[in-house]
Amino acid sequence: MTQRKIIHVDCDCFYAAIEMRDNPALAAKPLAVGGQADHRGVIATCNYEARAYGVRSAMSSRHALQLCPDLVIVKPRMDAYKAASKEIQGIFRDYTDLIEPLSLDEAYLDVSQCPHFDGSATRIAQDIRRRVSNQLHITVSAGVAPNKFLAKIASDWKKPNGLFVITPDQVEDFVSALPVSKLHGVGKVTAQKLARLGISTCLELRDWNKLALVREFGSFGERLWGLARGIDERLVHNDSRRQSVSVENTYDVDLPDLVSCLEKLPELLETLAGRMARIDSSYRPGKPFVKVKFHDFTQTTLEQAGVGRDLQGYTQMLTQAFKRGDKPVRLLGIGVRLQDLRGGFEQLDLFER
Ligand SMILES: [Mg+2]
Repeated sequence: MTQRKIIHVDCDCFYAAIEMRDNPALAAKPLAVGGQADHRGVIATCNYEARAYGVRSAMSSRHALQLCPDLVIVKPRMDAYKAASKEIQGIFRDYTDLIEPLSLDEAYLDVSQCPHFDGSATRIAQDIRRRVSNQLHITVSAGVAPNKFLAKIASDWKKPNGLFVITPDQVEDFVSALPVSKLHGVGKVTAQKLARLGISTCLELRDWNKLALVREFGSFGERLWGLARGIDERLVHNDSRRQSVSVENTYDVDLPDLVSCLEKLPELLETLAGRMARIDSSYRPGKPFVKVKFHDFTQTTLEQAGVGRDLQGYTQMLTQAFKRGDKPVRLLGIGVRLQDLRGGFEQLDLFER
């Protein structure tokens, strides 16, 4: 495989940055974009002044105000964010057509074939950062690496307003020192399991062969084996193919126990069925999953192969997920992972490497 050049671009506190740009009076204040505290609102984004007080996205607005009583919370203006996002993507398109947006403020770019700057991905990333700053008056951070997973870690490395480059010959050393919790797809539960096995860095993870990891982690074990070696062959998709279909609901009043959670399943399932019916034939339904966010904002997701995508299957998974926290629930979500029948590149190739 030829060497790829991937850039991950991520705007710094995007919604808040747009608000500060459009209303300079807000610029020096701790600022958050989100819902109001009296309506169980949640912080979507906050600026770095607010972060200094411990305010974080996905935190309840009420909690945020406790941490930072002077916090200014403004309502999201999605139209303004979408317009800015479009403008940034217009800049990206001057360098490549291989752009995969992850959200309004984040995208992967494959610039392997880009002729600008003699093909230097570093200089392309510098130029993108300069142009976004001049044209939109907000800052973006960028990561440059030979693949998506490393590019994404790199964009976070020097945030905000930073650039970090991992060249192919730096991959080995960089990944060795990387905590496994930074790996794509490793959440809290997997990180804990790895810790129990005595694995905290990628260097330690490399002591495990592929079959041993598959025994412990199922098909994700194979992925772990690759990531520990800096291998990630996922392509940059320039169309936004779906990964899953889901439905979730935040309840006005916390659901106190498992029984009250299970009572909500039929309604969620009905909405999910409606959404599944609109998925075209280029996808095949895969593993079902549930997501539970508890009243204290800890959350867990559980997905399981071989479980039915019906009331019985979701009941079983929700019961299991609930028991991980066993406390009142604020949000329930259910969904189905999708297998993309148009992309065959993520098939299991257990014995090939
Ligand atoms: Mg961002």
